[in-house]
Amino acid sequence: MNALPEIKKMETAHKTTIDFGRGTIGDGSFAVIAGPCAVESREQMFMTAKVVRDLGSVFMRGGTFKPRTMPYSFQGLGVDGLYILDETRKQYDVVVTTEVMSTEMVEVVAKHVDILQIGSRNMQNFDLLKKVGRTSTPVILKRGLSSTIEEWLAAAEYIMCEGNKKVILCERGIRTFEKYTRNTLDLSAVLAVKQISHLPVIVDPSHGTGRKDMILPMARAAMAIGADGIMIEVHPRPEEALSDGEQSINFDHFTQLMQEVERLKKVFHYC
Ligand code: PEP
Ligand code: MN
Repeated sequence: MNALPEIKKMETAHKTTIDFGRGTIGDGSFAVIAGPCAVESREQMFMTAKVVRDLGSVFMRGGTFKPRTMPYSFQGLGVDGLYILDETRKQYDVVVTTEVMSTEMVEVVAKHVDILQIGSRNMQNFDLLKKVGRTSTPVILKRGLSSTIEEWLAAAEYIMCEGNKKVILCERGIRTFEKYTRNTLDLSAVLAVKQISHLPVIVDPSHGTGRKDMILPMARAAMAIGADGIMIEVHPRPEEALSDGEQSINFDHFTQLMQEVERLKKVFHYC
């Protein structure tokens, strides 16, 4: 593995933990970041926030700048979605994350959310990595769709060497020859990066499998290997979702998942 001084420095320091006041990631707890693939309306986000809160979580997701494969697919609400995310966090006291796709938008996005997300397709957008590295906002760095573990850690190094050490790695599946699932969720990579770095690592079984029926079993697996949390797509009515409905769970399934997470926390020694 190439020289990664920031990653290596972390090896000798204590484990990176990121405290948001309402919740912490990387402290031995298991974070569940839940919400729709895309922010569609205030009602949708508020309904979801209430459920997230009632079930005992504080972390929410919702994309408003969407990197869609087809230019004709819903591209997200853009800046209007940022206002909805900001209102949601204020109203429900939740920690929100959203993807930032361009360097020009980094500052404005950082004003409205608590965690910046670098999407898989932008994992090696070096200008973007440097720009988020110059903020003090925590960053979720998703693994590139065809990136090696070393490239993923090198991308984290880009952010950290600019000054921002608050990086959370997210395994979201990689592209393989297999077509049955949307991606191949590489859980051994989670173990590998946990051995090499002291950064928190979370798992995204929604994009990792592309199938709602696999989210709960893969969440269990993430807990069994000691991941610091999961990021999952939850929608009030997945069949009507404007993006990724097939890999989004409804509130009933989310409730079941949260009950299972609660039960397994004891089994796998989470705090
Ligand atoms: C997302 O989480 O909204 C997303 C687009 O995921 P990825 O970048 O992993 O494809
Ligand atoms: Mn999605």
